[in-house]
Amino acid sequence: MIYETAPAKINLTLDTLFKRDDGFHEVEMIMTTIDLNDRLSFELRKDKKIVVDVEQSYVPSDNKNLAYKAAELMKETYNLKQGVTITIDKDIPVSAGLAGGSTDAAATLRGMNRLYKLNRPLEELCELGIQIGTDIPFCIYGRTAFCRGKGELIGFMNKPPSAWVIVAKPDLGISSPDIFKRLDLTQVHEVYTETCKEALDTGNYELLCNSLSNRLEPISGEMYSDIYKIKENMLKNGADGAVMSGSGPTVYGLTQKERQARHVYNAVNGCCNEVYIARLLG
Ligand code: ATP
Repeated sequence: MIYETAPAKINLTLDTLFKRDDGFHEVEMIMTTIDLNDRLSFELRKDKKIVVDVEQSYVPSDNKNLAYKAAELMKETYNLKQGVTITIDKDIPVSAGLAGGSTDAAATLRGMNRLYKLNRPLEELCELGIQIGTDIPFCIYGRTAFCRGKGELIGFMNKPPSAWVIVAKPDLGISSPDIFKRLDLTQVHEVYTETCKEALDTGNYELLCNSLSNRLEPISGEMYSDIYKIKENMLKNGADGAVMSGSGPTVYGLTQKERQARHVYNAVNGCCNEVYIARLLG
């Protein structure tokens, strides 16, 4: 049996630059990981099947599961005869803007690489991952990175200064395409990509907190007022910075002291079912 940890991603920044000819928006973002994890195990089967075992009934276990898709692609690419049972123990909230499905797919590529003793380099796994989802190369490395295009990994950055992360997911599911459809590029919303880069380069926690920004936040926030309420609540109760991740609805806040993190946690726990305390990894 092989085990892999699949950490959630958060956006430190997310900017949208222009609409591309292929209909997607060109994005520019800095992402990192936190120790809010799914845990996956991989076991060889006697037959040829791919079986995904996941407890939550609202997560697909068929070929709609990104881990299943990753396993299928590994089997095809490397002509693997023996099947695999993938068990996913999920802690990452689903449809949250935390790349839960993508990180499971990335863990599957890494896990099967070990299970079948393929010894393929991570760059090669990224080439497979990108065929399933643009976030997957980022998730394969799980490092702090600058991403561009539709979200493809461009380059690694320093890991952020250590901090507590309070993660709150309001009880609503957001469809990313729906948020992008409502994006009006003529409206200005400042995103501090360069400041964030500088904060990572210099390990400046305060500057990092000031640079957290997301071009999609006003769109999701106007549709679902809970997003802004949680953010304000976090800032009012001692978070040094707070922002929505991805297209939402999850909002996270940063603190340096554990006591401060507990305080923010308690403040948002009353108004939100899914609240977690984690650490920045990256
Ligand atoms: P992103 O941040 O990449 O936009 P997300 O965090 O918003 O992703 P996911 O948790 O990845 O969203 O789930 C989005 C959809 O993907 C869900 O509706 C779910 O049915 C499907 N899905 C496929 N595979 C998985 C998986 N392994 N875990 C969770 N959801 C999955």
